[in-house]
Amino acid sequence: ELPHSLVAIPLIKDHHSFGVLCCYGATAENADALVVYVDAITNALANALHLNAMRETAITDALTGLYNKRYFLEALQAELHRGIRFNRSTSLLIFDVDHFKQYNDTYGHPDGDRLLKQLGKIVKDNAGSFDTSCRYGGEEFVLILPETKPDHAYLVAEKLRQIIEHTEFPNRKVTVSIGLVTNTNSTCTPEQLLQEADKALYKSKNAGRNKTTHVIVVDKNLGAIDVEEANKIGKKAEGE
Ligand code: GH3
Ligand code: MG
Ligand code: MG
Repeated sequence: ELPHSLVAIPLIKDHHSFGVLCCYGATAENADALVVYVDAITNALANALHLNAMRETAITDALTGLYNKRYFLEALQAELHRGIRFNRSTSLLIFDVDHFKQYNDTYGHPDGDRLLKQLGKIVKDNAGSFDTSCRYGGEEFVLILPETKPDHAYLVAEKLRQIIEHTEFPNRKVTVSIGLVTNTNSTCTPEQLLQEADKALYKSKNAGRNKTTHVIVVDKNLGAIDVEEANKIGKKAEGE
């Protein structure tokens, strides 16, 4: 049961209200003494909120609101460690807008920016709650899919590619090419995984764009294995 008396002091700094300090059981006589602490509490709260906002800004891409490259590299390192520790697969998806230079040249840079913003929203809306979505660079986006089995990672990539393909953008149809790499349990570094995802992305570009290329790293010393090619070899062996 709450005491019958209450002293409430607003926490205000620079015309901004940070909350209210409520002291149950305090009396009017105690209020003067409490006021002494109010400034210190307000300053501490204001500093903590300011630091938080600064960290958010430092790890956020201003155009899309997704995480930026700096945060992505930190997160990939952490997720890879976790995956290896708990014996779970980690997938990394990178995609790049097809013929984006032509898009800018035709419709102008501001429309190009608007398209990137829209793509950022599509990524955000379709990422799972444990996925980390980031803008890696100009027109390249990355998604970290933790604890995701290879088959599921491929479905995620293909769903995203098809959603983008079938979205009605203001100027014209837009497609993306995807590189997807799944690390099953090897101690490969974020740099190695990113390199493999990048190679897979370029395979998708060379195969005609608007495609997903999926590779798996089982042993970092063996390098990545192309899933489609491995499946073809498997089917051929079954038929023999
Ligand atoms: P590809 O299908 O091979 O990927 O062709 P592409 O034209 O998309 O590739 P390329 O790397 O030649 O061009 C990327 C373009 O992305 C060039 C650059 O002007 C544009 N770009 C990079 N960052 C931004 C940005 O922040 N805003 C806009 N509007 N354009 C950007
Ligand atoms: Mg590019
Ligand atoms: Mg491109």
